[in-house]
Amino acid sequence: MDLIKGIDASIEERPYLKDTLNFYKKVAEFKGVLYDIYKSPVSSGDWSYPAERITQIFKSFSSIFDIPEESIEPLKEAIKLNRIDFAKLPLNDVPEYDFSYNEFSHNEDDILLFLISKSFFLRLKDSRNPGEIFWENGKCPVCKSTPSFSFNMGEEGRMLYCSYCESRGWWNRIGCPNCESNSADKIITLEFEKEEGFKLSLCNECSSYVKTAERRLLDNYPPDILDIISLPLDIVAQNRGYQRLSPNPIGMRKMASRDLE
Ligand SMILES: [Zn+2]
Ligand SMILES: [Zn+2]
Repeated sequence: MDLIKGIDASIEERPYLKDTLNFYKKVAEFKGVLYDIYKSPVSSGDWSYPAERITQIFKSFSSIFDIPEESIEPLKEAIKLNRIDFAKLPLNDVPEYDFSYNEFSHNEDDILLFLISKSFFLRLKDSRNPGEIFWENGKCPVCKSTPSFSFNMGEEGRMLYCSYCESRGWWNRIGCPNCESNSADKIITLEFEKEEGFKLSLCNECSSYVKTAERRLLDNYPPDILDIISLPLDIVAQNRGYQRLSPNPIGMRKMASRDLE
């Protein structure tokens, strides 16, 4: 299915996610534009985008997300000066730096960084291209993120999905990709009648969680959309005190208080 049509169909099914899904349309558009602007492969010493592409990347960001260019100038300058190592973001090592003028909150700075860096990770995946291998220690082999989304592939097992570089790979059917705990008394699995096809696995060892979608849902939705439409599960988990370790496809990590307002 065409991505935009798929998003519109999802909005009809879940009108309460209209704003979030419409925002994802912009994310998808930005990814497409950047994929054309930024074609160079990523090598191991690269921190972010090539200096000569940065102005164009920020212009596109500003026009697609309808954000004045001045308000994201500090982030642009920081990237130009090579002060931000994108590779640290999936390790949750976010630099202590004000990236934007005061119209953004700190939480939104995280979203801004995620969105701007997205195409870097897509090209990193292209450059390393590990294929659908087993993910040692539950971490993405391309960018080292700790995934928060997975697929139950039936008899074949479970696949983890990385929201930074969009890689997928095999892992244990049960168990927390953060602390690798797999005992039944540590991992609580929940299902909800209204969220058919999704499961929530809460880890009591490290207080993180992972969502799992049934394989059949992939016939109708790309992984990013599945992560977004199962947002009510994030709210349940976060209200119970569990953390999401990788952002969702629009860069949100903390969503409980925002969506309950
Ligand atoms: Zn990754
Ligand atoms: Zn854990």
